[in-house]
Amino acid sequence: MTAERSGAAPTRAAGLARLADFVPRAGRPYAAERNADHGSGDRSNVSTLSPWVRHRLVTEREVVEAVLQRHSLDAAGKFVQEVYWRTYWKGWLELRPSVWTRYAASVPHALDDLSAAERASYDDAVAGRTGIEGFDDWARELVELGYLHNHARMWFASIWIFTLRLPWQLGADFFLRHLLDGDPASNTLSWRWVAGLQTRGKTYLATADNIERYTDGRFRPTGLATEAIPPEDDTAVPPPGDAPLPEQIPAGPVALLLHEDDLHAESHAAALGAADAHVVAVASPTTGEPRSPLPASTVGDPTAPLVAGFTEAALADGRARAGAHYGAAACALDGITASAVREWLREHELTAIVTPYAPTGPARDRLDRLEHDLAVDGITVTRLLRPWDAHAWPHATRGFFPFRERIPALLREQRRGP
Ligand SMILES: Cc1cc2nc3c(=O)[nH]c(=O)nc-3n(C[C@H](O)[C@H](O)[C@H](O)COP(=O)(O)OP(=O)(O)OC[C@H]3O[C@@H](n4cnc5c(N)ncnc54)[C@H](O)[C@@H]3O)c2cc1C
Repeated sequence: MTAERSGAAPTRAAGLARLADFVPRAGRPYAAERNADHGSGDRSNVSTLSPWVRHRLVTEREVVEAVLQRHSLDAAGKFVQEVYWRTYWKGWLELRPSVWTRYAASVPHALDDLSAAERASYDDAVAGRTGIEGFDDWARELVELGYLHNHARMWFASIWIFTLRLPWQLGADFFLRHLLDGDPASNTLSWRWVAGLQTRGKTYLATADNIERYTDGRFRPTGLATEAIPPEDDTAVPPPGDAPLPEQIPAGPVALLLHEDDLHAESHAAALGAADAHVVAVASPTTGEPRSPLPASTVGDPTAPLVAGFTEAALADGRARAGAHYGAAACALDGITASAVREWLREHELTAIVTPYAPTGPARDRLDRLEHDLAVDGITVTRLLRPWDAHAWPHATRGFFPFRERIPALLREQRRGP
């Protein structure tokens, strides 16, 4: 099924429509029902907003504000908390980027190091032919639709790690390549959490009873691991570094460079206006960054075609809206390379780029390289950090529970902010 056929149009308009449809259900019914996976034909108990939020076609702030206009924080607290899980994971990784770098570097080794039997088990797992009830269905559902319910993601990761004894990194890679919402922070850290690496000693073990209960009796797998033995990992979790600070935005004409991590450029207008910066040109790459470090020759496309198509259309939607909003020429770049960007700037006689802050992950790596390469030409790259992130990320120093305590204060700060 294509993204279109599953109703997943990669536009802000479609994301807002989905949000409006979900808002009435975001109160107590969400808290009571969200854990049930009724199957791909009925996702009414969750929002399915994650692909739009992942690209910030719709921002976390807009989602939370829409919900809190309709419900009290008391009634919609669970939903708001789930949105803040995303913010927390993004902040946690932002303070410890080496966890991402190490993960990305370990994926090719994890594949190379598989024995022949393990490789056969890996191939069966990703093709959905292990014979494990539920697990095989979720593998196929993921590839076909680019989405899995949160509980199914937890069961799948648990069975991958503890029953099949496959490296968690290869499971995370499989998810990242196929999830429309595939996100360096939420995905990597959730896999680590299931494996017991995120909160040391705390693993997530899927059981047949739990799966049967929350899938309305559709699945009751047999032969699941009864013990969660965490994979070996002798690397300590690094201490948190500093959170990023807002940068000074240059006044005058600027070029706005968009990327797949933040495609609602309109909401940066207040900060740009306050700095007296004028956007005269808009660009974004035509395609997203590869989701996997593995070459296509080993396990297939580094980015599944469904995901690549969604991201491409999301980039086009973000670019067109930004061009219209700022009254600026909008163009698609073949890639965010120094030569393509230099040519684009030369055409508009510009030397200052502004770009939404890209958190730890492939888009950020690309922008860091670009900034370095263009510095010799006297071209500046300024990152636009959203108040939502600037307020929340510094608190992602410990576990989610102390972070959660700050949610009411974070919401008050948001409401005061621009
Ligand atoms: C192994 C594993 C891998 C995951 N990989 C990703 C990923 O790559 N990208 C991703 O966005 N989420 C990931 N999640 C988190 C979660 O499963 C999805 O965000 C959620 O299922 C999306 O569906 P929804 O929009 O209907 O969520 P809802 O329940 O409607 O929640 C609303 C929004 O809150 C955020 N959210 C909800 N739960 C979580 C969570 N546990 N962690 C982070 N954000 C959350 C999402 O942005 C979501 O759209 C993963 C979870 C697990 C267990």
